[in-house]
Amino acid sequence: MENKRLIDEFLELVQINSLSFKEGNVAKVLIKKLEEIGFSVYVDDAGEKLGGETGNIIATLKGTKKRKTVMFSSHMDTVSPGEGVKPIIDEENGIIKSDGTTVLGSDDKAGICAILEGIRVIKENNIEHSDIQVVFSICEEGGLRGAKNLDYSKISADMAFVLDSGGAPGEIITKAPAQDSIKVKIKGKPAHAGLQPENGISAIMVASRAIENMNLLRIDEETTANIGIVKGGIATNIVMPELEIVAEARSLNEEKLEKQTNHMVETFKKAGEDFGAEVEIEVVRSYSPINIDENDEIVQIAKKAFANMSVESNIASTGGGSDTNILNKNGIKAVNLGVGMTNAHTLEEYIKIEDLVNSAKMVTEIIKAI
Ligand SMILES: [Zn+2]
Repeated sequence: MENKRLIDEFLELVQINSLSFKEGNVAKVLIKKLEEIGFSVYVDDAGEKLGGETGNIIATLKGTKKRKTVMFSSHMDTVSPGEGVKPIIDEENGIIKSDGTTVLGSDDKAGICAILEGIRVIKENNIEHSDIQVVFSICEEGGLRGAKNLDYSKISADMAFVLDSGGAPGEIITKAPAQDSIKVKIKGKPAHAGLQPENGISAIMVASRAIENMNLLRIDEETTANIGIVKGGIATNIVMPELEIVAEARSLNEEKLEKQTNHMVETFKKAGEDFGAEVEIEVVRSYSPINIDENDEIVQIAKKAFANMSVESNIASTGGGSDTNILNKNGIKAVNLGVGMTNAHTLEEYIKIEDLVNSAKMVTEIIKAI
C-alpha cells in the first residue's frame, strides 16, 4: 500500500468538479485509471437518458481464479457547493478537509480512491482474484438516478460492495429503509380576503388541518415521515387558492411504510373533504429497502476481511438511501460500507487519512476473502 499515492489521488479527484449531471471530466480521468489497472471499460447510456455529461462507468477485470464475481461501487457526483474544492491536509489532526467554502467531496471520492488503490495492490502483488466489476455511478445525489438507469445487462456480479457510508471502515450497512415520495396539490378557491373571504376556500387552512392531524417525524424505530416543502400563496389580500406540498415517508419495513403513506394520503383527503377543496396526491416509491441477513455470505466475506486487518466489524442500519437500495432491487445482493466520510453534505466535511487508508485495505482484503 502506497499511502502517498492514495492521498495524492484523493486530492486529485476532489479537485475535479463533478456535480450531478456534470461528471464528464472526472469520468474521463477514471476511465484512464481503470484501463491502466487492466480493466475493460464500458460507459452506459444513463447519461443520455438523464441529460448528463456521461453515463455510468462499468469496468470489468478478468479474474485469475474461478469464484463469484464481486462488484465495488461508488458514485462520481458530489453535492453543492462542490466546485473549486481546495483540499487541505491537516497534519496535526490527521485529516483532509476543504477550505470551508465548499464540501470536500469525500462523498464519494473516498470510495472511488479506495476501490482503485485496493485493486492496484491486488494486481501489483499478483494476488489471485475472481472476476471484479467496478461501477462508478452518476447522479446518486438527489434521486439515485444513475443506479436506476444502470445497464444491468452489463453486470455479471453476484454481489456488490458499495463504498458510500459515513462510518469508519468496519461498518457494514445491511438494513436501509424504503422511501415513498408524496406530492400533494391542494386546490382551494380564491376570493378577496377583505371583501368576501367567506367565498374562498383557503388551501393553507386545508393543509394545516391535515398536518395537525398527521403523525409525522419519528413514527417508530423503523419508520419516519416528514413534510419537506410547502409552496403557495399570491398576496395577502387573496384567500390562498392553491398549495403544493412535498413530503416523504421511510421505513425499514415495507408494510409499515405502506401504512404510514396511506395515513398521510387519507389525512390530506379528509381535510380536503372537510373544506370542500380538491386534493391531488401522487405517491412514488423512490426506492425499496435493504434487508440482508447477518449470516449471508456477503456479510461473512466483509467480516472476514475486517478480521484479517484487525478491524472490528460493526453491522448497522441506516435511515438513508443509496445506490445499494437500487442494486438490491435489481437482484444484486449489496451492502454499503463505511469509508469514514464525516459531515458529508456540509462545508465542515472531512475524512481521516487513516480511514482512507483502511478503506483501500478493506477492498484488498475483501477480494482476498472471496
Ligand atoms: Zn454518497
